[in-house]
Amino acid sequence: MNNFRNMLTSFMQGRYGVDDLYRFTTGFIFVLIVVNMFVNSGLLSTLVWVALAWSLYRVLSKDINKRRMENRKFMEKFGRPAKTKFSLLKKRFDERKTHKHIKCKKCGTNLRFPKKNVTMIVRCPKCGSRYKI
Ligand SMILES: [Zn+2]
Repeated sequence: MNNFRNMLTSFMQGRYGVDDLYRFTTGFIFVLIVVNMFVNSGLLSTLVWVALAWSLYRVLSKDINKRRMENRKFMEKFGRPAKTKFSLLKKRFDERKTHKHIKCKKCGTNLRFPKKNVTMIVRCPKCGSRYKI
């Protein structure tokens, strides 16, 4: 088993491998296969084979930069945005009983501290301003 793993590792050396676009394509292929079980269309079955070949080609490709760019374009169009303003607000709301959030008056950095029943002096890690909370 370990030998097979080593063989696979050396085979994949310098090849692109799996990414988000691959995972999406695999899910898409799975959906196509399930749909095709009901409609039994030759066109869908051809599409499944083309998508399979394309995703396998991408995984085994040695042109890593090109595959990376394809994945980046895919993620820009369909990927989830990193951290939205809304998710930050939601996090603050969820933590309102355990943490305190203040904005540094000097540099604007958002500071987060655990809520304690004592007065603390905290320091902004970016500019060094001190606040009594
Ligand atoms: Zn600051």
